[in-house]
Amino acid sequence: MVLGFAATGFLGAGLFVVLADASPGTGESKAPLQVVATNAGGTTKSSKKRVVILGVGWGGMSFLKNLDSTLYDVRVVAPRNYFVFTPLLPSVTSGSVEGRSISEPIRRIIRSKGKHAHFHEAECIKIDAKNKRVICKDVSEAKVKGKEDFALEYDYLVVAVGATSNTFGTKGVREYCHFLKEVSDAVKIRESIANCFESASLPHLSTEDRRKLLSFVIVGGGPTGVEFAAELHDLIHDDLLNLYPHLHNDVKITVVQSGDHILNTYDERISKYAEQKFTREGIDVKMGCRVLGVQEGDIAFKVKSTSQLVNLPYGMIVWSTGIGTRPVVADFMEQIGQADRRVLATDEWLRVKNCEGAYGIGDCASIEARRIVEDVGYLFKLADKNNSGTLTTEEFVETIEKVRQRYPQIDIYMERQHMKGVLGLLSDATKDGEHSAVQLDIQNFKQAIAKVDSQMKSMPATAQVAAQQGEYLANCFNNMASEVHDNIAPEGPIRIRGKGRHRFQRFQYRHFGQFAPLGGEKAAYELPGDWVSIGRSTQWLWYSVYASKQVSWRTRTLVMFDWTKKFLFGRDSSKM
Ligand code: FAD
Ligand code: MG
Repeated sequence: MVLGFAATGFLGAGLFVVLADASPGTGESKAPLQVVATNAGGTTKSSKKRVVILGVGWGGMSFLKNLDSTLYDVRVVAPRNYFVFTPLLPSVTSGSVEGRSISEPIRRIIRSKGKHAHFHEAECIKIDAKNKRVICKDVSEAKVKGKEDFALEYDYLVVAVGATSNTFGTKGVREYCHFLKEVSDAVKIRESIANCFESASLPHLSTEDRRKLLSFVIVGGGPTGVEFAAELHDLIHDDLLNLYPHLHNDVKITVVQSGDHILNTYDERISKYAEQKFTREGIDVKMGCRVLGVQEGDIAFKVKSTSQLVNLPYGMIVWSTGIGTRPVVADFMEQIGQADRRVLATDEWLRVKNCEGAYGIGDCASIEARRIVEDVGYLFKLADKNNSGTLTTEEFVETIEKVRQRYPQIDIYMERQHMKGVLGLLSDATKDGEHSAVQLDIQNFKQAIAKVDSQMKSMPATAQVAAQQGEYLANCFNNMASEVHDNIAPEGPIRIRGKGRHRFQRFQYRHFGQFAPLGGEKAAYELPGDWVSIGRSTQWLWYSVYASKQVSWRTRTLVMFDWTKKFLFGRDSSKM
């Protein structure tokens, strides 16, 4: 059951790419801020609406892949011309898989879209919301000097630029720490590990010097930090110590975590298991510690419970403490009155709030769902058909049934409270449980429904969410543009403040569980509900799910080759 579950839906969209033969895209020449407003290299404006997609990560790729590109004039902009399967990035740091094995050239996907989609390798440096255009910059080494910038006009903009690493303004992090977001980061980490072992083997060093070089520090005990620590431990103990046996007593891995547990977004059983496993294996997990700053060769942190200050020498640090805002998104938020936020706020249809024509998906955006308390007055009016100022039980039930689709928190609340029907909501308002005779005034009504808002929570910043959002939005776009659409009745929930129904169903996230690889061929898997699976068989499930979720047969084959190579010959420790 688990296999089927995971294989059918784990990363939502299931980005299987069909590679079809088609003509390559046309490239425009880039004059200073040349505005590209036309279709496919032509000079006349196309009748098709122009869609600009920013980013080719999980969200952007999933959107592009599912979009019927014959319906739009599609332009894709990203500073790198490949998609990265990020869940396998930690494996690249140890050489368990190679960077190129988890990267899919975006041009292959563009080719499969025929002549309707175009890719521009550039960075969007400004979203000009007022004029509906984006300003982009050629950031490659081959750029033509003085002609780096160009503008693209859009009717619809899909912002899927992801996020940066968050340093929380900690001193020295940008200068001395590695991040783990891109393939290039993972390759640098791999090289840095090799450097530490080779330098530590030089004959003239003291024990203290060697220990400092071989002190590996990971800041952040979330899924990425923990997975990296596990990979590093495996690399060192399965491979490197066989090649550098003289360094056996000098290696140390330390995880510095600000919270009280590692993997604290996972089920408690998983986080406990991970802590015990790490402790057994000699990985030093320092919990409840706040990093004060990083200098060359030394990281300073404070143990929160005792206020003790600690200075830990290091050979290499990886910083993995969560996500921050990209400058282009921060500037965009400023323009549209969202300056106080960390990510773009969208509604449940993924439309950026206060900005017509723009959509936000993936790590750079989050859905700000509508609170039911904001609409109490409207809902009461809707329910009170005879304008008596009070509601009967039937009116209450009928109305809540009607609006359940609009406020997902109602169902979640009822499920958590084990309520069988919406009548259960009334118990709070009427206390005595006598529903049949009650007449609810607006205060009782508010009391009955306001509690459901407590169940609203934001979605995690994961590939799973981004991919599902991309697929959902592409389906909306496909319906929006298809000729038959105008004859189809709106399918969404009823409008509370306006008339009629919303055109589409709101975005609904389906959670298919999450993995945490823990090293030593063991992994943990948290399924929806109260299910947890830990151990070797879970690691095999991890292999099969991640192989099946590769975006093409090419990368799937490469990844499986890499795993086989690892099992047969171990990881390659050479420095290239
Ligand atoms: P991204 O995938 O980051 O893509 C952003 C895209 O925007 C990129 O193509 C980038 O080049 C482009 N871009 C950036 N700036 C600009 C700009 N100015 N203009 C135009 N384009 C721009 N999630 C899981 O569900 N499961 C996992 O196991 C998992 N493991 C992870 C491991 C690691 C090491 C990391 C870093 C993340 C992991 N995640 C995992 C999280 C997951 O990768 C992200 O949630 C996901 O990538 C978000 O998708 P996105 O499309 O929003 O952004
Ligand atoms: Mg009434």
